[in-house]
Amino acid sequence: MPELPEVEITARRLDAALRGATIESAMAPGINTLKTFDPPLHALEGTAITSISRRGKQFVIECSGGLALLVHLMSAGRLQLYDKRAGPRDRTSRLLLRISDPTHRPELRLREFGTKQAAWVKLLPADAIDDEELIATLGPEAWPQPPEDLQALLNAVRPLHTLLRDQRVIAGIGRSWVDEILWTARLSPFKRGNDLSDDEAIALREAIGSVLDGAIEHYEKVIALPIPDKLPLPLLVHRKGGEPCPRCATTIEQVHYEDYVMCYCPAEQTQGKVLKDRRLSRLLK
Ligand SMILES: [Zn+2]
Repeated sequence: MPELPEVEITARRLDAALRGATIESAMAPGINTLKTFDPPLHALEGTAITSISRRGKQFVIECSGGLALLVHLMSAGRLQLYDKRAGPRDRTSRLLLRISDPTHRPELRLREFGTKQAAWVKLLPADAIDDEELIATLGPEAWPQPPEDLQALLNAVRPLHTLLRDQRVIAGIGRSWVDEILWTARLSPFKRGNDLSDDEAIALREAIGSVLDGAIEHYEKVIALPIPDKLPLPLLVHRKGGEPCPRCATTIEQVHYEDYVMCYCPAEQTQGKVLKDRRLSRLLK
């Protein structure tokens, strides 16, 4: 799932390429993609894109005429800018914004891979974006300045791995980058938020900043339009179960959940303890 660094680099590239572009037409081939009906999608026709930015893991595409699109990629969506328009049989197309002026690439496309149609878009008056529930309930942004009051923010009887991915607590981090952040801070994914010492909170805040900075700097070097289907995530721990920890060479352990895998270094994060693999324990019940 695209998280803060992936959405940030995409928003930067698209903003640079599309600012000022005039929308010729807007279409939503995805059956459930457009979640609003007033204003209608064709209200975008003839407007110009004034900015493309990021809020948490979402995009906001602002247009002239006081309109804005809120775009949520969910787990398998991509926002890409193409030199050619999609054919009618492209089954990945969810929303198409066709650009009329020839100085810009002709089609901004929301695509989605797999069979699920989960990615969604809302067309709203631009001044209504902040009141939209998803945006209004976002916690403070994890980047560029991780929240100063991180310790207070995380003061709950919930594991760090869950808290940091809760968009209402802190916005932008998901299942990939949380593993990298906790490993960088040498903290157990299961440590409770209300059990964080002052020093640990400082280390965690530094890790959030440095990990997300590092990912975005990496993408600045390697990501170009149209925006690749698969972004090359510069991961050290996540999805590296069974490989040696890049810092201490202990084997990285993993815990399987229904739809994701948590990875950690037992020597540095859990005092040598190997956490139960939920998948295995379910099978053994
Ligand atoms: Zn290690």
